[in-house]
Amino acid sequence: MDKEKIQYYEKKLLERRAALTGIVERTENYGREADTDLTQDPADKASNAYTKELLFSQSTNDRLILTLIDEALQRIEDDEYGLCVHCGKEVQPKRLEAVPWARHCITCQDLQERGLLEEEE
Ligand SMILES: [Zn+2]
Repeated sequence: MDKEKIQYYEKKLLERRAALTGIVERTENYGREADTDLTQDPADKASNAYTKELLFSQSTNDRLILTLIDEALQRIEDDEYGLCVHCGKEVQPKRLEAVPWARHCITCQDLQERGLLEEEE
């Protein structure tokens, strides 16, 4: 992959990373504030717990993406960015455009989603 293209994806990755880091931090602050608020009535508490649960599952997902973004940035450094971590073939540009932290080409991703891909890690 040429340098310009890699820089383009790197920029996307870094922007997404900055945005997600902000969201994860805000979510954690919100969780702490909700915990220390003792003046709420029980109905408020219940809806708060629900919101927290939603935020928590969202932030788990965000953390996962953050990890994948870090791995992608590492692959840029290792000069392996854009190559499928499983078969080593180039990941389709359309796929990288949508998911710049994609680890697998579309074929391997499909296998993985069906539980047919053996990870070598
Ligand atoms: Zn592959």
